[in-house]
This record gives sequence, C-alpha cells and structure tokens, in this order.
Amino acid sequence: MPIPGLPEDRVAWVPQEPTRGLHPFLTVEEHLVLLPKVRLGERRQSSRARLLPLLERLCLPRERSFLRRFPHQISGGQRQRLVLAMALSWDPAFLILDEPTTALDPLARWELFALLEERNREQGLGYLWISHDLEMLSKATDRLLVIYGGLLVEAGPTQRVLKAPRSPYTLRLLGASRGEASLDSGYLQAPEQRQPGCPFRPRCSDGLPCCGQGVGWQGTLADGFRCWNPISRKS
Ligand code: SF4
Repeated sequence: MPIPGLPEDRVAWVPQEPTRGLHPFLTVEEHLVLLPKVRLGERRQSSRARLLPLLERLCLPRERSFLRRFPHQISGGQRQRLVLAMALSWDPAFLILDEPTTALDPLARWELFALLEERNREQGLGYLWISHDLEMLSKATDRLLVIYGGLLVEAGPTQRVLKAPRSPYTLRLLGASRGEASLDSGYLQAPEQRQPGCPFRPRCSDGLPCCGQGVGWQGTLADGFRCWNPISRKS
C-alpha cells in the first residue's frame, strides 16, 4: 500500500524471515552489492568499499572469507543482519522492519537501534517497526500502534501508550512483557470462528455485554483506542 508523500521506490522492507530476502546461490557480497547496482547504478567495487563499514556496524565480519559465503553457510542472526545491510545499502528514505531483532543477540540489537537512530538524525530515515519487543519500541519509536486480530485497538505517542494504556489488550501486553502471568490467557480464534464485536472479547476479563457489538474508534486518529470499557473508566 502506498505511503502518502513517500515515493514507493524509496521504501525498503526487512522481512521477518531473512531467507525470504536472500537467494541461496548468491554470496554475501553478491547480496550486498545487488541493490546499489539496481537502485543507484553503483559499481561493485565502489559498493563493497562503501558498505564494509556498514557490515561492521551490524556486527558482521568484513573478511573476504565471509563475503564469499552463501546464506546456508552463515548463522540465522548473520542472515538477519545481512538482510538489514541490504535494506540500508541504497539509502532508502523509509524502512519497514518486520520483527528485525528476533535472531539478534542483545549487543547486535542495540547496535541496530543506534544505527537507525543515527540515520534518522543525520539523513531523516523514517521507519515502521513491527515488533513485540516493547523495550526496544519504547526507545526506538515516537508513536505506537497496537493491533489485535487485525484490528487497530490503540494508537498514540509511545510513552503515553506504555504508561497509560486505554485498551485492556495493551495493558495485558505490557504485563506479559514484564513476565506477569495471566490465568485467562486463551488464544486468538481463526477469523472464521470469531464472534461479532471485539476480537479480544474471549480473553478479556473486563468485557461488557455491548462488547459483542462493533467497537468504534474513540479519541483522535493520532491518539485514541477502540474499546467499550477502557482502562480509565475502571479506575
Ligand atoms: S471492547 Fe470489551 S472485550 Fe474488547 S477490550 Fe474493551 S472491554 Fe475488553
């Protein structure tokens, strides 16, 4: 879907499963120089020289022996970082990051965060970060959108959403991230099995009879929620 005001050819995507972005018969180096050649018309040697520091920033080796390896010869974390390096290799204006830190160790996670923050500050790079990693999101984002069952249930400035959630689902998510157990955890039904109304209803301990009806958005587009019985009413 087009992003208003942003040309589609300036957007890069980092898939959750890195093998979806890698070709089994291309080496690390061939992956790295591919998009600069297609997008920028850059020569292979120039791309390699320009991008070796980026590999280091992403905690990847820059030795020739590593550059000659194929995707199946490097670790899962290295594959994820290689896909990130490819996404950044041609200086896009906007990144869509789908769970980009799942295979990364803590050092590499924070290095990625520092790199994105630096590109944001110096080059205006924007990004949409799809993740359950609330600790990272709390530092890396200005705004949060909380989605459950394909439905946007809360949106707002990151710190407001984390400190004063309005949706019971957001509250549950925050509790789970702190390791708080939930006795009525349940699961999200398949779309064809869901009852009308709020998709969180079978798991929500605060539901009302009206939750079986369609739930409208409350508040503004920039800061709002979708719930018949939001947190503030109960306190
Ligand atoms: S609309 Fe009802 S069921 Fe859904 S989260 Fe709010 S209180 Fe719970």
